[in-house]
This record gives sequence, structure tokens and C-alpha cells, in this order.
Amino acid sequence: MSKVSETRKQFINGEFVEGEGPTFQNLNPSTEEVISVYSSASVEQVNEAVDAAEEAQKKWATLPAVERAGYVKRVAAEIRKRRQELAEIISREEGKILKEALGEVDGSAEYADYMAEWARRIEGEIVESDRPNENIFLYREPIGVVAGIIPWNYPLFVFMRKFAPALVAGDTVVIKPSSETPDIIYEMAKAIADAGIPKGVANVVFGSGGVVGNALASNKKVGFISFTGSVETGQEIMKVASANVTKVSLELGGKAPAIVMDDADLGKTLDYVVASRILNSGQVCNAAERLYVQEGIADKFVKAIQERFSSLVVGDPFAAGTDMGPLVSASQREKVEGMVERAVKAGAKVLTGGERLKGKGYYYPPTLLTEVSQDSEIMRKEVFGPVLPVKTFKDLDEAIAYANDCDYGLTSSIYTQNLDVAMRAANELKFGETYVNREHWEAIQGFHAGWRRSGIGGDDGKHGFEEFFNTHIVYVQYDAQKK
Ligand code: NAP
Repeated sequence: MSKVSETRKQFINGEFVEGEGPTFQNLNPSTEEVISVYSSASVEQVNEAVDAAEEAQKKWATLPAVERAGYVKRVAAEIRKRRQELAEIISREEGKILKEALGEVDGSAEYADYMAEWARRIEGEIVESDRPNENIFLYREPIGVVAGIIPWNYPLFVFMRKFAPALVAGDTVVIKPSSETPDIIYEMAKAIADAGIPKGVANVVFGSGGVVGNALASNKKVGFISFTGSVETGQEIMKVASANVTKVSLELGGKAPAIVMDDADLGKTLDYVVASRILNSGQVCNAAERLYVQEGIADKFVKAIQERFSSLVVGDPFAAGTDMGPLVSASQREKVEGMVERAVKAGAKVLTGGERLKGKGYYYPPTLLTEVSQDSEIMRKEVFGPVLPVKTFKDLDEAIAYANDCDYGLTSSIYTQNLDVAMRAANELKFGETYVNREHWEAIQGFHAGWRRSGIGGDDGKHGFEEFFNTHIVYVQYDAQKK
């Protein structure tokens, strides 16, 4: 173990306090060295954090929304001030190449500012009554305490997806980061303190999902669990939440189909599909996870991907020429490796990649697979790594049928120059998001929400912001005769 001098703490009620649970180590996936050590929160400390958030929320909700938004903007300013340092922290603990980490830092600050802009747009409704002399008002009111449980793949961005809308809405938060990427969220705890956010309004508890995450999700004072992560954990959270009938938003995994028609602009499509599979080493929920190519251009297009994949530089996330860093952890690489091995056993052909890189670090190369069946594991389960299985199709009907034949329903894409084909696909693909002739990436003003096992509820935009409110409908009957 390399020298790590401090054990990092919990951030509860505005103070950094020693965790009372077991310690855990945070590893650099490029070097396999320990970069930080944390003391986990105990269950009692998680409950203390929720109590602090509940107490702070009473006053927080009385501030004008625009004032609450001002605090969120101050956190955005803290992020911008420390842009390079924060990006380096992400690259070091997650393995994302520095250029992409800088993009995540910028996007997170922008997200905070975007959500802050909603402060002056929180609106209720006046609903027409069936009775004379009655007004019906619909208010949007904060829920109370929000639990934000977040993954490692975009740790800062997903943190902001919970933190910013909650605070602008008048909620308070307790955030539980992934144990793979605690350092960047530790920096956010400091930024919360530096931004002068009142004590208890935003808390951070570190530790395993099974103990700390579970304690947070099962606390009955939590009014809303905003979770981003795997389907399996989402299912666990639903079970726990059911005891208190706590509202959940679940942003889960995906198995996005990308459909390439014969008439697609092959140059641009190649860029989009390749980028989608190597961005963050393929560890992106909306990335193209399976490729369907129309028969007429299949050989040419697959060869072009093979050439591009083979030419990519996999290595040190801090080096200027690197296209792709390591996977986040040894277990993540083992999972990806296992899926490729089983695909090969089932008859898949490896055109490039397919074997881990030698030496230190959890590196795995871009891997292209053909001769895969629609029913195989590699075409049906999320890989969450740089592996692209390809299947050909005859016509649009077949492509849409293949695409929709899936337990997940997060994102999808189609590449074509034909407006009729694009419109049919947009109407018939059964996914929360469809990208037509563009990259697999959402906008902050959209609505990122999965169908089927990809989730419940969603993040971003107006609809994502509204998740952080309860409605309160008030019926006011009055006496029209009174003078
Ligand atoms: P994960 O294993 O489900 O973990 C997510 C978070 O849940 C972590 O903080 C984890 O803590 C915690 N957790 C684990 N078990 C828990 C439990 N029983 N109760 C409460 N919390 C628990 O997911 P991941 O591996 O970090 O992230 C990758 C997954 O996230 C992929 O499936 C990806 O598609 C999905 N994702 C989805 C979106 C979206 O917007 N739809 C965005 C990003 C990622 P520990 O890990 O510290 O134990």
C-alpha cells in the first residue's frame, strides 16, 4: 500500500466527522495503488445525517427559491475555480481520460446553473372547480429529505443531478457516493462547506451500498430516493423503499441498440458509434451496446469499425494521446472478460480485442464481435465495457424488432438519410431516448428516463426537476354573500 496519511471522514450536519464503521480503500485503476482511505459511516451516523437534513429542511424550504439557487450557483463557482484539480481526481480514481473528465467537470457546473434557473419557474396551477364559489389550487412543495445514491461512472455529474434540483426545490439531501469514486464527492463536501450552504442542508455519507446505502434507503424520514446504478441494486432499493412506501426514481442500466441503415452517412456514423463505445471505456449507461447493420453496407462498416478500434490508444488517462483509459476496477474487468469469453464459447468471432492488456491497471481493449445471436447473453445483458457485438438485418421491420426485443429500455439510435425511415424508427422504438444521426448522449434540458427495467422516473429538464416536488391540492370554498 502506498502512503496515505489521513483517513477521510463523513460530512454530516456541516462537519467532517470520523466514521464509526469499517475503513475501506480507494484504488487507482491505472496503477492499482491505494489513493485514499475512508472510515465508513455507521448505520447510526446515516440516521444522524438524515435527522440533520430533516431539521435543516424546515428553514431551507422557507428561503425564496432564488436564494436557494444562489447557493447552488456558488457550488458551481467552486467547481469552476478548481476545474483542473477536480478533473484530475476523477481521472485518478475512475480511470476516465483527462479530456473527458474535464468535460464532466464543466458539464456538472453547467448542470448546477441550469437547475438554478428553474428557481423562478416553479409554478402551481389553478384548476377550474365544478362548484360555484370554490377555487382549487395546486401547489408544488418540496418533498423533504432526498437520498441521492450514485454510481462511479459519472460521479460528479450524477452527484449534481441529485444535489442541484433537490436544493432548488427546497429539499435537503444526504448523498451516498460509490465506494469506487469517493474522492470527487469528498471534494464536493468541501465545496458545500466553502459555498456556505447552511448546516445539514447537504450531507455526504461514505461506505458500502449494502450497509450505508441500505440504511439510507430504508430510513422512513427520507421522502424520495433518487438512485442511479444497476438494475439489481435498483430492485433492492425498491424492496427496501416499499416498507415505507418511499417515492423512488431509478436510473438504471441499458442495452442500447444502434441501427445503421444502408443509406447512412458512414463517416459520421462511424465516429458516433465508435465514440459511444469507447467513451469512459464503454462504461456509459446510454452507450451503444449492440449494433445492427443493414446487409448492404455491413462488410464495409464492420471493417471500418475494426480498423478504428485497432488504432485506438489504450493507456494512461493522463497522457495526451490516450483514447481510452482502464476499466474502473478489477471486478468490472472480470465481468467484461467473462461476458466476452462466454460469447466466444457460444460462437462469436472476435475481430479485434478480446483479451486484457498485460501489466498493471485494469485495462481492456476495444473489442468487436460478430456472429452473435439475438438470444445470446452478449446481445441481451449490459456489458458496461468497450465491447461491441454486431448483427446484420434485412430491412427496417427486422431492425426495429431486434432493437425492441430487450429487457432494458434506456436509449437507442438510428442512422439514415431517409426521413420516412427516421420518423418510423422514432415512433416505433420502445425506449426512453432515441438519437437520430447523432451521438449517444443526452442534453441537460431533455428527460433521461428509462423504460422497462431501465428504470422508473427520470432526471434532467423540467420533468426531472418536477420529480423533487410533492403536489398539494387545496380546495377553498368561500361565501360570496359576505361583504
Ligand atoms: P451499483 O453497483 O448498482 O451501485 C450504485 C450505487 O448503489 C453505489 O453507490 C453502491 O454502493 C450503491 N448500492 C449498492 N448496493 C446497494 C444497496 N443494497 N442499497 C443501497 N445502495 C446500494 O452500480 P454501479 O456499478 O456503481 O454503476 C453502474 C451501473 O449504473 C450500470 O448499470 C449503469 O448502466 C448504471 N447507470 C445508469 C445511469 C442512468 O442514468 N440510467 C447513469 C449512470 C450509470 P457501493 O458501490 O459503494 O457498494
